Amino acid sequence: MLKIKQETKIKQLYNQRGGKGNSTMLRYFIWTIGCQMNKAESQQIAGCLDSVGYRAAISFSNADLVILNTCVVRQSAENKVLGTLGLLKGLKNKHPHLQILVTGCLVDSDTQELKRRFPHVDLLFKPGDYPELIAWGQKQGIPIQQRLLGYARNDVRVASSPCALIPIIQGCDNFCSYCIVPYRRGREVSRPLGEIVREVEELVRRGIKEITLLGQNVDSYGHDLPGHPDLADLLNALSSIDDLLRIRFLTNHPKDINLKLIDTVASVNKVCEHLELPVQAGDDDILRAMRREYTMERYRELVPTIRRKIPQISLSTDIIVGFPGETEEQFEHSLSLLKEMRFDVVHAAAYSPRPGTIACREYQDNITAEVKKERLDKIEELQAAIASEINSQLQGKEVEVLVEGRKKGKWFGRSRSNKLVFFEDAGDWLGQLARIQIEKTSPWSLKGEVKK
Ligand code: SF4
Repeated sequence: MLKIKQETKIKQLYNQRGGKGNSTMLRYFIWTIGCQMNKAESQQIAGCLDSVGYRAAISFSNADLVILNTCVVRQSAENKVLGTLGLLKGLKNKHPHLQILVTGCLVDSDTQELKRRFPHVDLLFKPGDYPELIAWGQKQGIPIQQRLLGYARNDVRVASSPCALIPIIQGCDNFCSYCIVPYRRGREVSRPLGEIVREVEELVRRGIKEITLLGQNVDSYGHDLPGHPDLADLLNALSSIDDLLRIRFLTNHPKDINLKLIDTVASVNKVCEHLELPVQAGDDDILRAMRREYTMERYRELVPTIRRKIPQISLSTDIIVGFPGETEEQFEHSLSLLKEMRFDVVHAAAYSPRPGTIACREYQDNITAEVKKERLDKIEELQAAIASEINSQLQGKEVEVLVEGRKKGKWFGRSRSNKLVFFEDAGDWLGQLARIQIEKTSPWSLKGEVKK
């Protein structure tokens, strides 16, 4: 009954605003860049809009409501956001009824400056600031309610993928000197363990097979909750959910990850053998300037410990090149570290000053764009060679893949160690576990054949 009332309301709004296309429903389009947390929040908002009678549009141009979920962690991401906002200005001039909402890390506490720069935006709300979104919805007559923005509501859809992203802790208390995230997402707030378990039970009931637990620093999970449950406790609780096949989590912090968690990954079968452990630099002086609060010695002890306890583990890391003052020698330390550690995946980025951060205030961005690019290229070239060697060892081997969908006529999914695997088959494999014999490898993905 509630749903019918909501849809009637949306139809009235549609008529008032002279909606587009042949449909009698209002349509939304959510544009998302940045981290998995942004993707999770976009899914949440999409689920809510579906449940109040909106329908997903295939592009900006046939939407009545556009939401930009933004990232400004690097200049390149910010440039894309600004470009998209410019594009939307033109679209709004042509279609004045278009509603434009902006969230994500572009939005800080003081929205006045952003409002001045982007007068065509109808609402700016901080990441996860749903009361602001709800209040805006009420003024517009859009029945967005807190309960619909909760996780795994009965009336919220599950996307066609068998995998779900589950935020478990919001914000970050670390204040790495280059990072804008704590200023935009605020301090750490963990979700209660029981609430997460109930959400995952509900998602599994609706067909989800794999979950990825998300946090800027998942190792901080629970320190602010009564009884202080930690990530290992949460993994143990989730692993007892029948029909949940796989559990992943990201991102860890090298200063906080502990033996209890490593032992849990080693012993709980549903937890996949993959860790994201951002090192950021291979030099102690740079790490100190970054305020990462660990040393190379700690990192060099940690990785072999993880590999000894979890022999199948695959490791990803992040590296920043061209941090203020990074000398050629210090950069060489990062390269040597990558050669020594042989990560499966390296996400490399050039430093860009983020206004409001400690590094932006205290250090001069004195490495030229050319040098940053050169260093980035060296890292990428080295890592392509390492990943190529690591992946080639899987040639002829069998891996278990949870099939997530189809791309260009091929099924795709990930192995337990997070390798992207493609295969061709006429059957319907969506959401199934497939045994794939690997026939072809590259630094970025694998290709194989189903073992029947
Ligand atoms: S741990 Fe550091 S890099 Fe990661 S979100 Fe927190 S402040 Fe940013």
